[in-house]
Amino acid sequence: MYQQSKKLLKEQGLAASKKLGQNFLVHRHTAKRIVDYAELSKQDTVLEIGVGLGALTRPLAEAAGQVIGLEADSGIIRLHEEQQGGPEHPDGLPENVQLLHQDVLKANYEELVQRCHGKKLKIIANLPYSISSPFLFQLIEHHEQIDFAVVMLQKEVAQRLLAQPGTKEYGVPTVLLRTVATVKMLMSVGPEEFHPRPKIDSAVIRISFSPLSERAVGAFDHNLLKIVVNSTFGQRRKTLLNGLASSGLLSKDVLRECILQAELLPSVRAEQLALEEFIRLTQVITKHKNQ
Ligand code: SAM
Repeated sequence: MYQQSKKLLKEQGLAASKKLGQNFLVHRHTAKRIVDYAELSKQDTVLEIGVGLGALTRPLAEAAGQVIGLEADSGIIRLHEEQQGGPEHPDGLPENVQLLHQDVLKANYEELVQRCHGKKLKIIANLPYSISSPFLFQLIEHHEQIDFAVVMLQKEVAQRLLAQPGTKEYGVPTVLLRTVATVKMLMSVGPEEFHPRPKIDSAVIRISFSPLSERAVGAFDHNLLKIVVNSTFGQRRKTLLNGLASSGLLSKDVLRECILQAELLPSVRAEQLALEEFIRLTQVITKHKNQ
């Protein structure tokens, strides 16, 4: 498959674009392993982000009923459109693949859900490294429309999402993703699995979306939590109180009172707080704001 993807790119006058994060998977068995982790059935419609040369798309089309494939590169779209369907192109994508020329960061999630027959999205992606962060925040924002995402990204980013409080990897995405989903490490993937080879290691994770309130922490204001988390991590070396004061949510004295009422210390750092503690603090701040 390695020679194939190189040959295909050359034949079509395409070069792997660095800007679009084009590191294509080259081993069929690795692509198949990733697809197996999604546990799909023929009843499922699956959304693939970044179709590329179709390394994941083909096993996905075998496992699921339908694949909706998003791709930002017009050259790649053209290549597949020319090759799809006809018997003279045995390497074309299967007929149950619907390609959309689209930048996922500008996607309309309502529309994607409609395309997936009104069902919550099952997402698979070998992500371009450059979009992993905005893409994760997009998933958090649209969490109600997503069932799960099996994604390959930088190993370092995967480690951040799985980090425990008190470590330097623990940060804003770790906490915010945890409010809407659980994250599981599935496998590590080395540079030799791609063409061209990236300089870093990758990992595949599964993000399963389920609202945290169902997991018994009580109701809380998601937007306010976002402000609390962003303001306190934004000033990582500052104390919880000083970071929180920069949010301007309430006066510093009232915020100190809120921290104490949430049974926390004003002198701790944001990275030491578990999600449940951020939520408790948010709930107390909400009460004070409504007074
Ligand atoms: N799925 C293929 C594979 O596993 O070999 C390709 C993966 S490659 C890492 C990422 C793919 O995403 C490329 O084909 C790239 O053109 C596409 N891409 C980059 N940015 C994108 C965006 N914002 N929206 C949709 N696709 C994008």
